[in-house]
Amino acid sequence: MDEALLQIKDLQTVFRVGKQEYTVLHKLSFHVGKRETVCMVGESGCGKSVTTLAVMDLLPRNGRVTGGSIRLNGQELTALSRRDRGSLRGKKMGMVFQEPMTALNPLLTVGRQLTEGLLLHRGMDKAAAFQYARECLETVGISNPDERMRQFPFQMSGGLRQRVMIAMVLAVQPELFIADEPTTALDVTIQKQVLVLLSRLKKNMDAGILFITHDLGVVAEIADRVVVLYAGYKVEEGPVQELFQNPRHPYTRGLLSCVPNIDDDAAVIRAIPGILPNITEDIPGCRFHPRCQHAMDRCRKAVPGEFPCGGPGHYVSCFLEGGGR
Ligand code: SF4
Repeated sequence: MDEALLQIKDLQTVFRVGKQEYTVLHKLSFHVGKRETVCMVGESGCGKSVTTLAVMDLLPRNGRVTGGSIRLNGQELTALSRRDRGSLRGKKMGMVFQEPMTALNPLLTVGRQLTEGLLLHRGMDKAAAFQYARECLETVGISNPDERMRQFPFQMSGGLRQRVMIAMVLAVQPELFIADEPTTALDVTIQKQVLVLLSRLKKNMDAGILFITHDLGVVAEIADRVVVLYAGYKVEEGPVQELFQNPRHPYTRGLLSCVPNIDDDAAVIRAIPGILPNITEDIPGCRFHPRCQHAMDRCRKAVPGEFPCGGPGHYVSCFLEGGGR
């Protein structure tokens, strides 16, 4: 098999809290192919955003990567200097955040922010950059680009700002597009438009998309494959249809049972009992065991390995699949 666009192997990150460091990602491995959308799902605090920040080299000051590998098109990113990682961010990897104001500069016009990346990373002159930026705004469905180019971010709605962010990433044509809950703050109609836009980008740009969300409705709409995280561990991974029809990890089943079924009046929404442990809690064995109704003795003592299950490309980390009954 050709090397994937993004290949993450045994990635380990720690965060310092007070004087101690705690592991947040535990030997995480997965990949994203070209023209593929991989959705990473799990409750808030499970490690989804930390994964994207580790890939982008944007971890906060109290966090760091302590092991494993992050390869983009075969190039090992963890071996690069901060400066080289920074330049890759503009050219080969782009990220859209949940709240675009965290990434947009409130003091600069949208036009200035859009053209800056083009002058810097694509070597365009001012006129060409302006024209191309205008086209990018049109591509993301902004109908009056000339007026928008002159505006500041605060003069726009949340949905428009999110489109501007996507246009900024699009403008530099990254190979890897990372979107961290990009539609959570948007109303349903705009959300739908942004998802359609991202799917189009994947097809037209040869890019791979890593999409972070806790919304399984969004996952069903755009994912090719799904990675399920729980408390910093990957617990299940598989093609979207296979995983939705045949979830094998008790946590994945719990997540799916929380999704309301509008076709079934009698459907009951079942929340997963208990809460996600915080990073300072030391839970031996499978970290899901305090919430798992199938927990056995060995689940409290050992961390389950990854076992193939169901169809091709479907893997689960649970003793129920590994001869533990
Ligand atoms: Fe539940 Fe054990 Fe599977 Fe963990 S390994 S999910 S505790 S059955």
